[in-house]
Amino acid sequence: MVVKVAVIGGGPTGLVTGMGLARRGHHVVTVDRDPGPPPDGSRWPRRGVMQFHHAHAFRAQVGEVLRAEAPAAWDAWVGLGCEAIELALPDGRTVTAGIRSRRETFERAVRSAALEQPGLEVRTGHVDGTTTSRGRAQGISVDGSDFDADLVVDASGRSGRVNRHLRGPGVGGECGIAYVDRTYRLRPGVPVPPMTNAIAWQGNYVGFMVLVFLHERGIFSALIIRSTANRDLVGLRHTGAFEAASAAIPGLAAWTADGVAEPLTDVLPGGPLLNVYRGQRGPSGGLALPGLVFVGDSVCTTTPIFGRGIATSLTQVAQLLRLVDEHGSDVEAVGDELDAYDEARMRPWVEDHIAMDHAQARRWAGDDIDLAGHLPSDLIMNAASQDPSIGEAIGPYASMEALPSVLGTVEERARAVYRTGWRPQPDPGPTSDELAELVATAVPSVRN
Ligand SMILES: Cc1cc2nc3c(=O)[nH]c(=O)nc-3n(C[C@H](O)[C@H](O)[C@H](O)COP(=O)(O)OP(=O)(O)OC[C@H]3O[C@@H](n4cnc5c(N)ncnc54)[C@H](O)[C@@H]3O)c2cc1C
Repeated sequence: MVVKVAVIGGGPTGLVTGMGLARRGHHVVTVDRDPGPPPDGSRWPRRGVMQFHHAHAFRAQVGEVLRAEAPAAWDAWVGLGCEAIELALPDGRTVTAGIRSRRETFERAVRSAALEQPGLEVRTGHVDGTTTSRGRAQGISVDGSDFDADLVVDASGRSGRVNRHLRGPGVGGECGIAYVDRTYRLRPGVPVPPMTNAIAWQGNYVGFMVLVFLHERGIFSALIIRSTANRDLVGLRHTGAFEAASAAIPGLAAWTADGVAEPLTDVLPGGPLLNVYRGQRGPSGGLALPGLVFVGDSVCTTTPIFGRGIATSLTQVAQLLRLVDEHGSDVEAVGDELDAYDEARMRPWVEDHIAMDHAQARRWAGDDIDLAGHLPSDLIMNAASQDPSIGEAIGPYASMEALPSVLGTVEERARAVYRTGWRPQPDPGPTSDELAELVATAVPSVRN
């Protein structure tokens, strides 16, 4: 049965949902207030999606869902230069370890494919609300005009407000972590500096963390990450302070030194980072509104440090498409089963990040590891350097093939490692107090 679908939001979630449904013969309209990239090829401001110009890493799941559900978007992404990192496994299989790309490159590819998709209309406008009839979603209201639909999909992202009043209380909130980042390009002929994994380099220091996400064609983003409570590092948003810090952190200097790379952007301060889960239900426990489903960041938002957001968003899209295949216009069954999926497969990632970020903030504030409570996932992973048998659970967790609960099987072994008194050692570099001194020297006026 052909279903008429209205999708609120034309970010990655909305457009991949739209393409997947249209390829199945459904009639779909996606509506986003953003008009798309300027036709003259100049910078796409993408107002309202604060992370658009920030560093993104892409996990294998993003490529898998695109290849299956929106192959034209995958082809366009490859055409724009994304680099899929293929790894040969000892058993002879080849797996994609991640995809190197800027977010802007990714979204341009997805949008260009969506615009060409028969059965999908990509409309510009502001969605004012979901219209209802007899307690069910009847469509959406766009800039004062109503559009009827059998199914409304809310893909309005982490900041979407349009249907928030219909939903029950979420889990989580601000994660207590802040960062600044800057985009660079490796100079011609300079080899890629050491990486921690296929898509990133990570350095851990006393009181802060550094990440480098490698994108396409030697372009990369460098991030310095701190606790929001550490106001002494706020000045890192100033170019002089960021450059002084980059030079003082040896692992980061290996990427950003003048002879290695040239900056492509100013330093970008990040907005508030969230760990939030909201399922499909309203305050009373029933569906928020039969005929309305939520997908993507509007369900599951996690700290970007692990680069999980687009993977969790697109795996939800794949599940929604399976459920529409199965239930057609029985939109209540779609909502109920999507909620069960979200609870089982999405909520654990948010809870995993809440636990990790909370414990990280306490350690950055000087606390020791709490061995009486649940060990957060990053600490379980770190302990594998001392007890390699812990490693068996880490691969499936790190690649998101298994849920965080897989680490429960090795948590006691990790605890035993920490009971010996061993602690992960910081990488060579300044402490956050020393970094704060550099910041204060570079930008004396912003010392707090
Ligand atoms: C700083 C930061 C860094 C990140 N880094 C990574 C990373 O490295 N890897 C990764 O996988 N993920 C990362 N993420 C997460 C990732 O960006 C999100 O998972 C992704 O944007 C979710 O896509 P979405 O389409 O669900 O939402 P969005 O991208 O937020 O899109 C929602 C769309 O809805 C539109 N919209 C909202 N309300 C309305 C309305 N009323 N009317 C019309 N349009 C509306 C908005 O304009 C927007 O286009 C990061 C997130 C942040 C905040």
